[in-house]
Amino acid sequence: METYRTIHSSYDVEHIRKDFPILHTKVNNKSLVYFDNAASTQKPLSVISALQEYYTTFNANIHRGIHTLAERATHEFETTREEVRKFINASAREEIIFTRGTTESINLVASSWGRAFLKPGDEILLSAMEHHSNMVPWFIVARQQHANVKIIPINQQGEVILEEYEKLLSEKVKIVSIVHASNSLGTVNPIKKIIERAHQHGAVVVVDGAQSTSHLHIDVQHLDADFFAFSGHKIYGPTGIGVLYGKKHLLEAMPPYQGGGEMIGEVTYQGFTTNELPYKFEAGTPNIADAVVLKHAIRYINTIGKDNIQRHENELLQYATEKISEISGVKIIGQAKEKISILAFTVEGVHHQDIGILLDKEGIAIRTGHHCTQPLMQRYGIAGTNRASFALYNTKSEVDYFMQALHKAIRMLR
Ligand code: PLP
Repeated sequence: METYRTIHSSYDVEHIRKDFPILHTKVNNKSLVYFDNAASTQKPLSVISALQEYYTTFNANIHRGIHTLAERATHEFETTREEVRKFINASAREEIIFTRGTTESINLVASSWGRAFLKPGDEILLSAMEHHSNMVPWFIVARQQHANVKIIPINQQGEVILEEYEKLLSEKVKIVSIVHASNSLGTVNPIKKIIERAHQHGAVVVVDGAQSTSHLHIDVQHLDADFFAFSGHKIYGPTGIGVLYGKKHLLEAMPPYQGGGEMIGEVTYQGFTTNELPYKFEAGTPNIADAVVLKHAIRYINTIGKDNIQRHENELLQYATEKISEISGVKIIGQAKEKISILAFTVEGVHHQDIGILLDKEGIAIRTGHHCTQPLMQRYGIAGTNRASFALYNTKSEVDYFMQALHKAIRMLR
């Protein structure tokens, strides 16, 4: 596929913005500045029109039908699976399971692998910066299996303390489940090293790729990840569709997560046999439309090129970090050396929610609160932060406008 770099000599953000109709809407009579990309990204026209095309021209249930529409829908659904495989460089299509999103992907592993293989006294390692969806499923299975959850500490900059991780590793550790890039701090974890060390102790590693997949190159074989989860809606695709990558031999050894149509080989009055991978983990009619459409989001990212996206977003992050550091009383939460484009901060004496409300009046969408990482907020001794997160379509002039609005909000609130 031709990359964006070959089409445009420099990163033409204004050209890119034309692909996203929502960026040209008004919010509270102001031009929208969308800095809530870590929660969900906006969608390009190619994604929006692919959804319309699906429902207007080939909507049908998949796999079991022999008519033309069913065959077309099946083909488009399975084509996405193949494009996802390439996107994250999995070795086989059987290793790509469609789910509702990262949350369901992690629940699938915790529930299926966890209940089959965790024994009393086994340990599950999580980092101190995990999203609730990479904590609660493990707490649930730990309680059921009488296993223990242990937390890898982080330093004040928001980086995993590798020496502490080393100390926690032992033969008791069966699972290390860790975020690739933090939604609250922006930290990019040294995931390859973390996986390597876990494997030396025989542990299986689950990578939460919800935040990393739209920003970083993902190569599950290079990382040697056992499981990798991500969501369509955070990579410019639709909501309600996500992916679980799992190594084939691990998925083969796992019992089904849910029972129903599609996941069976044969059913009798006495019981059932399971279908082959990946269908063993895709019970019932899947989210066909959004799976079909997901490949258009992947194509969009590939057309611009991850290197170009990363360069642009890093520039925005650096620029915004410099500008915000000039405001007195602002404290950046998350100052790791390696970061994705997330700028989280607190303002002395001002509640984050009040800032969010005032910025919204200026048409600026940021996120405020604990960002589904309550234990992490406790670690920093705060109730929440303001979080601006940048995507491939954001601009420096939007950052300037945001800074002006932030100055104004702080003046009003102090
Ligand atoms: N993990 C991280 C790091 C996230 O940022 C999120 C969403 O914000 C999730 C998991 C859950 O993703 P989803 O709600 O799409 O399942």
